[in-house]
Amino acid sequence: CRHLVVVLGDQLNRDASAFDGFDPALDRVWMCEAAEESTHVWSSQQRTVQFLAAMRHFAQALRGEGLPLHYETLREGGLADALREAIAHWRPARLRLTQPGDWRVLQALRAAAGDTPLDITEDRHFLCSSARFAAHARGRRQLRMEFFYREMRREHGVLMDGDQPCGGAWNYDADNREAFGPNGPGFLPPPTRFEPDAITREVIALVQQRFADHPGQADPFGWPVNRAQALQALQVFIDERLPHFGRWQDAMWTGEPWLYHAHLAAALNLKLLNPREVIAAAEAAWRGGRVPLESAEGFIRQILGWREYVRGIYWLRMPDYAEQNALAAPHDLPAWFWTGDTPMRCLADAIGQTLRHGYAHHIQRLMVTGLFALLYGVQPQQVHAWYLSVYVDAVEWVELPNTLGMSQYADGGLLASKPYIATGRYIERMSDHCRGCRFDPGQRTGERACPFTTLYWDFLLRHEARFASHPRLALQVKNLARIGPAEREAIVARADAVRAGSVA
Ligand code: FAD
Ligand code: SF4
Repeated sequence: CRHLVVVLGDQLNRDASAFDGFDPALDRVWMCEAAEESTHVWSSQQRTVQFLAAMRHFAQALRGEGLPLHYETLREGGLADALREAIAHWRPARLRLTQPGDWRVLQALRAAAGDTPLDITEDRHFLCSSARFAAHARGRRQLRMEFFYREMRREHGVLMDGDQPCGGAWNYDADNREAFGPNGPGFLPPPTRFEPDAITREVIALVQQRFADHPGQADPFGWPVNRAQALQALQVFIDERLPHFGRWQDAMWTGEPWLYHAHLAAALNLKLLNPREVIAAAEAAWRGGRVPLESAEGFIRQILGWREYVRGIYWLRMPDYAEQNALAAPHDLPAWFWTGDTPMRCLADAIGQTLRHGYAHHIQRLMVTGLFALLYGVQPQQVHAWYLSVYVDAVEWVELPNTLGMSQYADGGLLASKPYIATGRYIERMSDHCRGCRFDPGQRTGERACPFTTLYWDFLLRHEARFASHPRLALQVKNLARIGPAEREAIVARADAVRAGSVA
């Protein structure tokens, strides 16, 4: 054939640039379910179902359009070997591939292409190209999301009145981030879940059989797996949850995994949705008076700001980015991260829902699981492998900077301006988890000391010299001065006991 167009599992958009100029008489699409994509990190069953089910639905749509497609159902081994075989079989003059979301996959496919020319085309799904981000980064001593976000707002005319931000401010976070209070969230809109059709049911059975020893569960599964479902999920979110998104963005509640979040990250990352249509829908809801500005702005900032920003950093800094460990964190990830079996209620809840649904919201990822790993001193590459495995929305370009940079500070402050550290008091304030927990977030030593609180002080002790004059952390470090030698010893001993597993 003329062109063999390679479509990966997170490239399920028909308007992708690799399809430009596609001629069904000359060209052919190639898709492959390679088992290695689920085993190079120990991908959870929900995540694998999400990818395979969405791929099969996309393939069905391509066939419906009459496009010649060679689709390989689950095969052992990697994508590269499969592509080599496909090249030998179809003998294409050229290969075409939209820029992948994973540096490792790009290298593997480049190598597999061999002598066949491989055109890597720009991923137009994103509003900011890698080249545009590199231009933003050039000459800056420090990268900060907020400045990048303002550039994107101006450049794309999002929430702008002429050259001024709507409402007069760029950021309304001061009005967001409340906790639910003692009585909890009250009525919550139900999540948008989709009954698996025959294609998805077949994938669930396949995953249960082939990946039985992988974390979590394949069933029940209710995520959008095609564009129509993703559009429906978007609409329901805008109507029912976006009005309250900002206010409750950081709140947590035991047994309530969905709250007022969008649950759209997987649909976006697999390209079932375009970020432009998501941003436009949120802005239109505000302009139509259906949503407060702080909710619309807070939500849009996640997509136009954070999502584009972390992708920019990923492509700017890979492959070295993945290897960093600025705080020299040495420990193994506790085994209960893979089961949720821990008496720490906040962690049991966040990990439990993660394994059940492949989902936890941002604050659960950042300030529960991520915070614990950071304070504990888990080697960042192990934390990265966990996050890449367990979430239905996990693709490396977005997962890695969030994990290594934002949550573990392993890049030494490139992505986030300070390590996000807190005691158990933060979790107590933002949730009801501590109420039923055997630990006390107000205590750092003693039998009932909350491991977060102990490890927080232990973290400051270990990194006192590094952060003593850090502009945003110095104040926290200063508090160490009030702790005498005996108490310091007790903190370290208790932290060691937490790591030894004799506390929790
Ligand atoms: P909402 O909270 O409703 O936010 C709306 C949308 O904004 C999301 O769908 C997502 O597309 C985008 N978004 C929000 N925050 C971020 C962010 N920090 N970076 C990039 N996009 C963002 N997001 C992923 O898509 N994939 C990942 O693998 C992933 N791993 C993460 C790992 C860690 C340690 C942390 C702290 C965050 C991670 N995030 C990841 C970011 C964020 O937590 C998820 O995007 C979000 O929780 C998904 O749920 P939602 O769709 O309900 O999002
Ligand atoms: Fe989590 Fe500590 Fe609260 Fe228990 S006391 S729920 S471990 S923060």
